[in-house]
Amino acid sequence: MQLPSFARSLSARLLLLTVVFVMIAEVLIYLPSAARYRADWLAEKLASGHLAALAVEAAPDQMVTDELEAELLAHVGALSIDVTKPAGRMLMLAADMPPEPQARFDLRTAGPFTLIADALGVLAQQEPMVIAVTGRSPKNPDVLVTVTLNDRPLREGLWAFSGRILVLSLIISGITAGLVYVTLVYMTVRPMRRLVEAMMAFKRDPESAEPAAQLATDRSDEVGIAQRELIALQAAVRQAFRQRERLAALGTAVAKINHDIRGVLASATLLSERLLDSRDPEVRRNGPRILASLERAALLVSQTLDYTRDGVAPAALAPVDPRALVAEVMEALAAERSSQANGGGPALRNEVPAGLTIPAERELLFRGISNLLRNAVEAGATRVSVAAEPMGGMLRLLVVDDGPGLPEKAQAHLFQPFAGSTKPNGMGLGLSIAREVARAHGGELRLAETSGRGTTFAMTLPTAG
Ligand code: ADP
Repeated sequence: MQLPSFARSLSARLLLLTVVFVMIAEVLIYLPSAARYRADWLAEKLASGHLAALAVEAAPDQMVTDELEAELLAHVGALSIDVTKPAGRMLMLAADMPPEPQARFDLRTAGPFTLIADALGVLAQQEPMVIAVTGRSPKNPDVLVTVTLNDRPLREGLWAFSGRILVLSLIISGITAGLVYVTLVYMTVRPMRRLVEAMMAFKRDPESAEPAAQLATDRSDEVGIAQRELIALQAAVRQAFRQRERLAALGTAVAKINHDIRGVLASATLLSERLLDSRDPEVRRNGPRILASLERAALLVSQTLDYTRDGVAPAALAPVDPRALVAEVMEALAAERSSQANGGGPALRNEVPAGLTIPAERELLFRGISNLLRNAVEAGATRVSVAAEPMGGMLRLLVVDDGPGLPEKAQAHLFQPFAGSTKPNGMGLGLSIAREVARAHGGELRLAETSGRGTTFAMTLPTAG
């Protein structure tokens, strides 16, 4: 895992998003201000139109020369001006044959959205137009003014205004984006990067506490919490690693000692068998007892050995047919039973469907399932069956018996090694080994049900490796 390049980093995305958001904000501000620019420009024309009309009104007989009329119109920038006064009196100034307006606008009824749309219309139109604008005179609301004019200056002014706003927007968004970016980089991205680096360093070398220690901070926000939590988490994991190493060393030692003791027990058993042939009746009588004790010791040693060996990750997973495996376990158990003095034993039923495969280490899984079946048989069940059902990517093996149910002591110490046995020779390892086997395969073992009518253990195992 490598940290991403700048283009794909969180910083670049934040920078881009900030620019986009600021530009959106600028557009939202620009639209009403462009509308206002146009409305003000037109209102100013109405005001000067009104003023020009007043000049005509002041003239004797309200008549002015053609030159003055043309001058007044040029001053306003209009082609014609109509002014209606409250009493209904009308005044009109017009050039010779003013052209017919191509569009008419009434500022009295235009709402904000119409004003925005009209301002955008001015920017969008290809050619300047002759327009007629009607509105109340800003100087006197009782006076209605209509001005006909060529909107070229309005278009040019609006374009220049938009250009200025665009440049300003770019500058503002650049500064804002820069400030937001720098703040985010210092407050979030950098600490996040350090967090990721510390995690990667921990993955490479879990023993070294240095990278995480550099994260130590007194920040009270979420980033500070994440950094402190990571330091604590790494310390806990490191502690667990050390403990695991110690346990592994202990396990190896136990396995070695067990191995030697097994050898010692084997030769002791061999020698003790000779006691049975002794001429001394006292020695002959005690011989079987000594042999039984030695056998028990050998059993305990081999069970402990199993426990220390199992529970590690399976060495090699291979496709296993669970039906065939269960059949094998049952055969082995039946053979064991028939060789013993009491013989017989319960009916074993294999209800696992044919044609399934799961990735497993055969030996390990054999031992896990065998422990569950043996427990059921030893508990005195008359019928033991193994069924299987798929359950979302997992296979659920159900070991069902009709025995007396788990004794209280076994339930209280369920799956605890060396703790839950109720049998004279038991070590309380069978169930914990079976659970470790399931877990080593990425599955789980649970007690599904236990009562006076029987017990069901459910072992889930992944169906894909
Ligand atoms: P061990 O077999 O060495 O005693 P286990 O961990 O396999 O250890 O089992 C612990 C105890 O749980 C057993 O001693 C037994 O009393 C009880 N037990 C396990 N499986 C069953 C079962 N299917 N029915 C009744 N009791 C059971």
